[in-house]
Amino acid sequence: MSDRAEESLEGAEQVRYDQARYVEDGQYEPLLSEKDLTRVDIGDTGSDADGSDDGASADSPLPDDLTRDSLELPELSEPELARHYTRLSQMIYGIDSGPYPLGSCTMKYNPKFTEDVAALPSGAVHPDRSERSIQGTLEVLYRLQDYLGRIGGMDAVTLQPPAGAAGEFVGIRVAAAYHEHNGEGHRDEVIVPESAHGTNFATAALGGYDVVSLPSDDDGRVDLDALEAALSENTAALMLTNPNTLGLFERDIEEIAEMVHDVGGLLYYDGANLNALLGRARPGDMGFDVMHYNVHKTFATPHGGGGPGAGPVGVVDELAPFLPAPRVREADEDGEGDESTYELFDPEQTIGHVHGYQGNWLVLVKAFAYIARLGDEGLTDASAKAVLNANYLASQIEYDVPYEPFHHEFVASAGDQDAADVAKRMLDYGVHPPTTKWPEIVPEALMTEPTEIESKDTLDRLAAAFNAVVDEDDATLEAAPDRTTARRIDQTAAARSPRLSWHALDDADER
Ligand SMILES: *Cc1c(COP(=O)(O)O)cnc(C)c1O
Repeated sequence: MSDRAEESLEGAEQVRYDQARYVEDGQYEPLLSEKDLTRVDIGDTGSDADGSDDGASADSPLPDDLTRDSLELPELSEPELARHYTRLSQMIYGIDSGPYPLGSCTMKYNPKFTEDVAALPSGAVHPDRSERSIQGTLEVLYRLQDYLGRIGGMDAVTLQPPAGAAGEFVGIRVAAAYHEHNGEGHRDEVIVPESAHGTNFATAALGGYDVVSLPSDDDGRVDLDALEAALSENTAALMLTNPNTLGLFERDIEEIAEMVHDVGGLLYYDGANLNALLGRARPGDMGFDVMHYNVHKTFATPHGGGGPGAGPVGVVDELAPFLPAPRVREADEDGEGDESTYELFDPEQTIGHVHGYQGNWLVLVKAFAYIARLGDEGLTDASAKAVLNANYLASQIEYDVPYEPFHHEFVASAGDQDAADVAKRMLDYGVHPPTTKWPEIVPEALMTEPTEIESKDTLDRLAAAFNAVVDEDDATLEAAPDRTTARRIDQTAAARSPRLSWHALDDADER
C-alpha cells in the first residue's frame, strides 16, 4: 500500500471514529418528534354542531376523524434545528461524502448545475397548459428524444417510463405488440442470461412471457451453443446488457443479433451499462432493436432508495408505432419559414400511456442539461475515464478479479470471506462498499464501479479500504461495522413494517 493510500485510510478512520462516538457516548440524535413537544392550538376546525362524526363538518369538507384542533410541534430555536439536520447529515454516507462504487448502479456524483437548471422557475410549467404555451418544454423533450436516439443508435424514443425497470416493461410490451401485429402472438418466450439484473427476469415474467434462462460460457459471456439451443419460433426476445454484468464486452454481439433475428426474435438492450460505451459504440449499430436508458445512471440525477429516475425507451423504426403515448415531434411546417414548433402525438398503434404526461420531467431536464453541457467530446471522455478508473482500481486491489478484460466495472471475488461482511467492514474504513453477491457466476461477488468522476487519490483510498479488509478474520468481519452510527439494520423488517408516522413508537397505537 502506498504511503499516500495509508494516510488517507487513517484520515477516513478518524472521520468514522467521530461518528461512532455519537453512538458510544450516547449522543444519538433523537427525531424532532422525540424532542420537547409543545401542543399548539390550531383553532376551531368546525366540528358538526350535533357532534356527529360521520361526515364532513360545516367548514371542512373532511370527515371529523381526519381533522384536528391541536398539533404537537417541537419547540426549537433556529440553531437547534440547523444542528439537528447537520448532525443527521453527518451520520449518513452519501455520494457527497465519498466514493460510492456500487456496481451496475452507477452512483456517481452529479454536477449541481443540472439541479440549478431543473430548479429554474420556467421549468415549473403545468403539464395541462396548451401546447402553444409550453413550446420551450416541448422543445427540450424533443431534443432529448433526439440526443438519446443518436447516443443509442435508435430511431424513435419515448421519455415516459420513470425508471429503467419501467423502461424494460415498456420495451417488452412494445415487442409483444409488434409480434401480435405481425400475427406472431404465439411467441411466448423471453431469453435472459443467468447473470442478468433481476429486473430483466421480472420484466419478462410481468410481460406475460416464459423466462428462458441462458447460461454463460467459461469466459463469462453469452454461450453461443446454449443460445442456439434456447432460440426457437417461440422466442419473442433476448434481453442483454453489453458490456455485461461482469463488465465484459459481448464480442459476438453481431452474431448473437443475427441468430436472434433469424428466428424472428427481437434483441433488447438493458442500458444500465451504457456508461462504458458512450460516444464509442451504439446498441443500434450492434443489432439491438429496443433499449432503455437509465438516465439517472448514465447521465445526471442523484438516485438511490428507489428514485427518482427516468427510463426512456428507444426503438428501431419497425417498433416506433407501438411506443407509449404521447411523444413529441416537430409540427408540420406551415410553409412560412418561421421557427419550428412542437406538438404531442400518439403513435398509431401505441400500447397506451405508462405514466402521466411526459414522465419524470425534472429528471429529464437534468439529463438534457448534462448531455448538452458535455457534448460529444465530454460523453466520450466520460466513458474513457469510467473504463480507466475501473481498470486502475482493479489493478490496486488484492482481491481476485476472475473475469477480464472488463470495461467500466469489474467483479472481484471475496473468496472465503462473506461478501456481505466485507461490505459492512469497508464502511468502517470510511468508504461505501461495492454491490455484493451478484452476479452469482463469481463466488462472493464484489461488483465494483468506481465511475468516471473519481480522482486517483479517491481510487487509492478505495483500494486501501479493500486491502485493509482482505486479510481480516471472520470474527472481525462479522462484528462490522463498528464505527458507523447504525450497525446492521434489519432491512427486511424496515421494508415490511415501515414506521410511517412521526410519532414515537410507544404511543403509535393510540393514534
Ligand atoms: C439498475 C439496473 C436496472 C434497473 O434500472 P432502474 O432504473 O433501477 O429501475 C436494470 N438492469 C441493470 C443491469 C441495472 O443495473
